[in-house]
Amino acid sequence: MRKPMIAGNWKMHKTAGQAVFLVQDLAGLVERVKDVEIVVCPPYIALKSISTIIEMDKLNICLGAQNVYWEEKGAFTGEISPVMLKDLRVDYVIVGHSERRHIFGDTNEIVNKRLKAVLAHDMKPILCVGETQEEREEEKTFDIIKEQIFESLADISSEEMENVVIAYEPVWAIGTGLTATPEQANDATRNIRALVGSLYNPEIAMITRILYGGSVKPDNIAELMDEPDIDGALVGGASLDAQSFAKIIKYQEIGE
Ligand code: PEP
Repeated sequence: MRKPMIAGNWKMHKTAGQAVFLVQDLAGLVERVKDVEIVVCPPYIALKSISTIIEMDKLNICLGAQNVYWEEKGAFTGEISPVMLKDLRVDYVIVGHSERRHIFGDTNEIVNKRLKAVLAHDMKPILCVGETQEEREEEKTFDIIKEQIFESLADISSEEMENVVIAYEPVWAIGTGLTATPEQANDATRNIRALVGSLYNPEIAMITRILYGGSVKPDNIAELMDEPDIDGALVGGASLDAQSFAKIIKYQEIGE
């Protein structure tokens, strides 16, 4: 069985101090949650303090980073290496987020390098893929996702693939308030699972967790999670508020 995952991408929000308050507030609200894997991805500057809180208070929260450079060390001003993240007990690293692809020029080749670096240092990548509005209108969604999946996963073994999480994030739904319908989201995640099956094998496809991301909120999470090929969510804006993020994490209680 695939354990559901709800991951919060805090992007370039919160100072280190604010991030600590947010994780503490969140921890109090979700302390009884056992059947959902909770991940927070704060900015780099907050990783150390949050890592310490998670360890000291034995929180049921995993730590994620929003990006990584692929070299271990060296003259790469401004970059953060996988060794540095591992040292801070980071569990997950987002790679290929659409903002990295569209604002900072990450290509599938670069995403592949980051992904390999994450795996080589015993962390788990959350690989983001998704089409733009224009690509969807031109009915290129499937081709774009296929290219992103195949090129980003180049030279990744089936053993390594067991540690990869994929997030389907249609670019047109990120931070826009537009959400893919549950059917649209499930169509894409089902296609992604089939692509993973064709690249690896049906067993790997069955165990790979595929998240949906794009304006997920407390009022749409339950219907998204009802879909058979959606195993969780990557949440941006709504993860910046402890109450709304906790409601998303506790989606099984919605409507009770
Ligand atoms: C994201 O940043 O991955 C995201 C999905 O953002 P939002 O939830 O704000 O659309």
